[in-house]
Amino acid sequence: MSADIRCQRLNPEEISRNFSELHEPLSELQAIQESARCLFCHDAPCTEACPTEIDIPGFIRKIASGNLRGAAKTILSENIMGNTCGNVCPVEELCEQVCVKNTSEDKPVIIGQLQRYATDHVLENWKQLFRRAPVSGKKIAVVGGGPAGLSCAHRLAMLGHSVTVFESRDEPGGLNEYGLAAYKMLEDRAAREVNYILDIGGINLETGKTLGEGFELSDLRRDFDAVFIGLGQNAVNALGMENENVDGVYNAVDFIELIRKEDLSTLPVGRDVVVVGGGNTAIDMTVQIKKLGAESVTMVYRRGFEEMGATDYEQQVAQTNGVLIRTHAQPHRILTEDDQLCAIEFEYTKKDANGQLTGTGETFVLPADQVFKAIGQALDPAPLEGDEQPDLINGRIKVDEFQHTSLPDVWAGGDCTPGKDLTVTAVQDGKIAALSIDEYLNHG
Ligand SMILES: Cc1cc2nc3c(=O)[nH]c(=O)nc-3n(C[C@H](O)[C@H](O)[C@H](O)COP(=O)(O)OP(=O)(O)OC[C@H]3O[C@@H](n4cnc5c(N)ncnc54)[C@H](O)[C@@H]3O)c2cc1C
Ligand code: SF4
Repeated sequence: MSADIRCQRLNPEEISRNFSELHEPLSELQAIQESARCLFCHDAPCTEACPTEIDIPGFIRKIASGNLRGAAKTILSENIMGNTCGNVCPVEELCEQVCVKNTSEDKPVIIGQLQRYATDHVLENWKQLFRRAPVSGKKIAVVGGGPAGLSCAHRLAMLGHSVTVFESRDEPGGLNEYGLAAYKMLEDRAAREVNYILDIGGINLETGKTLGEGFELSDLRRDFDAVFIGLGQNAVNALGMENENVDGVYNAVDFIELIRKEDLSTLPVGRDVVVVGGGNTAIDMTVQIKKLGAESVTMVYRRGFEEMGATDYEQQVAQTNGVLIRTHAQPHRILTEDDQLCAIEFEYTKKDANGQLTGTGETFVLPADQVFKAIGQALDPAPLEGDEQPDLINGRIKVDEFQHTSLPDVWAGGDCTPGKDLTVTAVQDGKIAALSIDEYLNHG
């Protein structure tokens, strides 16, 4: 039987409805009512839980008094991508989780949505809130135009330095532009935020420039006073199976990029779809392929629910969209007919006496027109090769608490360094690195 893969399993209107934003923007009345729920705690736990340390009670108080510009400035001073973060932060594990209103009788203040409300106001009305310090004459190279690189570039530009961002793609934005789920973040929002960041001046963006192809780290260290590396995770983990390149098996991140960039009604969608993985990439893949009209979507993870990278809320989003989540099973064999995927066999897993995951020998087969691999990305250090390269730890670039690498004039941050892989942490890494670079340039 041949694979059942088609475009337009749903009609274009249904698809467009399915991909409308997860949260509608708040109205003025909703924002005022919601901000009035905040208790304006003194040592606010939400601020402590926010990786970028935004003064959350401070910005909510400003919304309550109608000072949206002031609220946005409070947010963007700490997190220049506060608009994206308001849409995509896993708030249920960060600021909103620790809100004192988050009790069995009440619910947390919707901090993320208020943050988006205030910053939308500034980005839509194109109000530039930041000014550059007098020009310092120092030049910094930033590799990668994702959240880490852009955050670092913006802070350095504010401090008066001249920045050149080298970005291998044609457009900046990193995974904000081509990775975040389309229903969490409509496409033009990422570009709008990048334009706002660049509008401060002093940032020269060079797209189509890939470190390791035509220029090396040693060239940047020679030509610039300091270098920041924010190249993300530039490689995708493989299942390690014999025929995993067969038609019908895809890298989830590649397909998610198509969802963000292409006409949704032209994308190939299987009737039976299996997604392998347990993180937010796996969840985003399952939810989006379901929204494109796949009939049965099963996500299979090798460990238990509690060990998934995806939060409880994300698991719920998948389940309420009709996704079946199966745990404790690992892919064993890809089954084909006439070189075309037809099913995937899994083996049940358990932990052995040493706590190591192992196969039980029992298997089951899921019919599949499409299989998406979402088992994580990795750093390919090849672009860093040269005379001297920064030390690595567990496959990522080793940094100290100031995002400083083992090389005296090189800093790094975001997904290419250890830590949680989130937009908000990448932004914080870039900010911390910029402040440390500024200190180094001023005081050696
Ligand atoms: C599918 C998916 C969904 C996600 N959903 C969420 C979410 O809902 N919420 C959340 O907070 N986080 C989410 N994340 C994580 C978040 O997107 C990342 O943590 C964040 O983008 C990391 O920023 P970064 O700048 O380190 O890397 P990236 O965003 O990957 O940016 C790196 C940039 O460097 C460029 N580059 C790479 N190599 C080179 C080179 N050699 N030379 C020059 N440029 C180079 C790349 O083109 C890219 O533009 C998701 C990630 C994925 C994959
Ligand atoms: S940046 Fe994210 S974690 Fe911080 S306050 Fe905003 S939504 Fe919460």
